[in-house]
Amino acid sequence: MSADVVIAGGGPNGLMLACELSLAGVRPVVLERLPERTRENRANGLVGQVVRVLERRGLYERLSGSKEPPHPAPGFVFGALPLDLRVLEDNPLYLLQVPQLRIEEVLEERAVELGIEIRRGHEITGLSQQDDTVTIEVAGPAGPYRMEAAFLVGADGGGSLTRKLAGIGFPGVRRDATVSRTVHATVPDSMVDPATGGLNVPGYGHIPPFMHHRTERGLFVYAPLPGKPPLMTTMEWPQDLPGDERPPTLDEMRASVRRVLDADLPLGEPDGEGPFLRRTLVGGNTRIADRYRERRILLVGDAAHVHSAIGGPGLNLGLQDAVNLGWKLAAEIRGWAPPGLLDSYEAERRAASERVVMHTQAQSALIAPGGEVTALRELWTELLGDRRNVQHIADMMSGADIRYHTGAVDGHPLVGQWAPDLLLDTETWRVRLAELTRDARPLLLDLTEEGSLAGELLGWRDRVDVVTARLHDPVTARSHDPAPPVTALLLRPDCYIAWASASPRPGSDDREGLRSALSRWFGAPLAA
Ligand SMILES: Cc1cc2nc3c(=O)[nH]c(=O)nc-3n(C[C@H](O)[C@H](O)[C@H](O)COP(=O)(O)OP(=O)(O)OC[C@H]3O[C@@H](n4cnc5c(N)ncnc54)[C@H](O)[C@@H]3O)c2cc1C
Repeated sequence: MSADVVIAGGGPNGLMLACELSLAGVRPVVLERLPERTRENRANGLVGQVVRVLERRGLYERLSGSKEPPHPAPGFVFGALPLDLRVLEDNPLYLLQVPQLRIEEVLEERAVELGIEIRRGHEITGLSQQDDTVTIEVAGPAGPYRMEAAFLVGADGGGSLTRKLAGIGFPGVRRDATVSRTVHATVPDSMVDPATGGLNVPGYGHIPPFMHHRTERGLFVYAPLPGKPPLMTTMEWPQDLPGDERPPTLDEMRASVRRVLDADLPLGEPDGEGPFLRRTLVGGNTRIADRYRERRILLVGDAAHVHSAIGGPGLNLGLQDAVNLGWKLAAEIRGWAPPGLLDSYEAERRAASERVVMHTQAQSALIAPGGEVTALRELWTELLGDRRNVQHIADMMSGADIRYHTGAVDGHPLVGQWAPDLLLDTETWRVRLAELTRDARPLLLDLTEEGSLAGELLGWRDRVDVVTARLHDPVTARSHDPAPPVTALLLRPDCYIAWASASPRPGSDDREGLRSALSRWFGAPLAA
């Protein structure tokens, strides 16, 4: 049996990668060891740029159930410190509160629509690499078998066997100091604050909903998610760590809440339809793979990096890995990838994971117990009174501060950045840029007076689409998504800008810059 790409793992990142490859014209096979989708939820939401990435593939609508484009959040938290995002002119922090189980369901549905083969109950057990193939040993429901693939991508999570078998190291640190407990449980109606949806706990005070709430003894989170009893989490730094990760009893959770708040919160058994979560996590790892590629084997998502879940950055990072890798790997397989394109995946995405590792570690330090940390938090609270610092944190958490190195020399400020959601008038209709990127093709947006740039695409028309339009007024679909003057944009399939111009009538230099960017990202032109 053979395939162009085998993806080990049908979690969110493996499924997203499969969809991206398929949109780019390559049919992957996904091997997932679980016979059916897990019922254990991890993420409760998506935080940051990924929300907009999903919109650009038409998936936000399915996940949110809304036809409206996403709006940035009015507030969030950093290290259990509130961030007032309403003060920002350019608020990049988008949130989508949706359980990971639903995200996986939607991605699987999309993969099936695209005709992708997902083999459930098929576990990768071994591999070897030859010059032009990877041989993969698989344990399937009908027994062991072998597959050959041009590439294998490990999307098999933090404990990735693919990574281990490929001999890729996973350096970093393990911290064992924390115990986190999470349960679905009921709370007395009398304690729910109708104004905020949070809790008023006698003897303690108000606890806002969905916020990490730190005391000098630990952390408490109260999340009244729709459709289920509230989800509550504590985090403590005990002297004696539990020896295992046995799910907490309700009594253990009550005791933990009492230690953190120094007050009683009478938790009741959850009612309604399960499954209900009971989870204990002891300590955690912060690690990044020492390389994302070993010849014909690549890693995405948790297989490439693990870190604290604080602030919910995991899927923002992993799903964008998948969107970055998909078109590059497809280009390699289809034979038009310019030299170095596939390796730019690691160059671009490692920097993103290093940033997440940095800010999750910083946040973990800020939620720790003790008087010194309380003092540090007071200082941070002062710093967060300055709008520029809030902007900095919001840009970092959302990943909106990513600038990929594109090698372009024309210096347009948008180059290397995520494309803003421009509002466009074509000859026939008004459209948002976000609606033009659903099929993940490279795109030249020609907004020049004469609309004459399409001629430069001659050798690339098999790979690159062109849309000729006028900028609508206002220029972007959202006031918080400003754009500097622009008359032409070349978008990579991941919606990052490979080239841009501000000349109303592009001259020979502009045209040369465009052709050079086309070659750099989309390979050599076809002969005329
Ligand atoms: C408690 C908790 C809360 C979190 N909260 C958030 C949050 O709010 N927001 C957020 O963005 N992120 C959150 N995360 C992180 C997020 O859940 C992960 O980043 C995400 O699941 C990673 O997806 P993945 O596809 O890379 O790996 P996984 O989800 O781990 O999927 C890997 C898949 O590979 C399969 N597999 C493993 N080995 C093999 C093999 N040998 N052969 C075949 N298949 C295999 C597994 O069965 C699994 O289905 C949280 C994580 C935790 C633990």
